[in-house]
Amino acid sequence: MTLSASPSAAERTAVVIYSGGMDSYTVLQRALREGLDVHALSFDYGQRHVRELEVARRVCRKLGVPHQVVDIRAIHGLIDNSALTDASRTLPEGDYGEENLAATVVPNRNMILLSLAIAKAVNIGAGRVVYGAHGGDHVLYPDCRPEFVERMNAVAGIANFEAVEIHAPYLRASKAEILADGLAMGLDYADTWTCYRGEALACGRCGSCRERLAAFAANGAVDPLGYSQRPESAADVSQRSESVANDQPEA
Ligand SMILES: [Zn+2]
Repeated sequence: MTLSASPSAAERTAVVIYSGGMDSYTVLQRALREGLDVHALSFDYGQRHVRELEVARRVCRKLGVPHQVVDIRAIHGLIDNSALTDASRTLPEGDYGEENLAATVVPNRNMILLSLAIAKAVNIGAGRVVYGAHGGDHVLYPDCRPEFVERMNAVAGIANFEAVEIHAPYLRASKAEILADGLAMGLDYADTWTCYRGEALACGRCGSCRERLAAFAANGAVDPLGYSQRPESAADVSQRSESVANDQPEA
């Protein structure tokens, strides 16, 4: 995704969907390093907490990146059958398994977000939308699969008078590989928020925390984020992932 010698304004300009989490943070930083004129776009879709969005605002201010948070809470009634958006539902703990996962699916999430990001791209003359879908070793969500990205890209090419390209630079990477790339770029992951809970410290227990900690362990690195409960070692992380059902002590 390197730029040609004299890129057009559209080629130079990208809308990056940026949640404040570690994948999209890495995507944002990569786009900046590729010399793109980045416009960050975050969505408030009624997440259980706003920690991610607060982190996203702070990081964009620090980087001097124009940042827009779009309030799409009005669609909450359409997507509220998910533990990620409905505070009355119990958030699953433990690693991602099919049952845990189903509770964290926001219906049609990436298509909704991409659709709005494409609109912004057309609006500001950006030629691409970049987002942090990744399949890795286990494809969790249908809208993170390569065939979804390919087809969205095809649609984005014809939906407007101006063609927009969809880039998902980490489409075939695992979370650990994305982190490895970010660490090689010297990124500080204290500038990210992953935990599904919005407490002062990350919980260390939800699927998102566990996946994050496993990615750090796989890279032999220590997560700079503060945790209220952190598995002591990589071995602990993998041991826990094998005994999710009966290993859920509260802190
Ligand atoms: Zn957590």
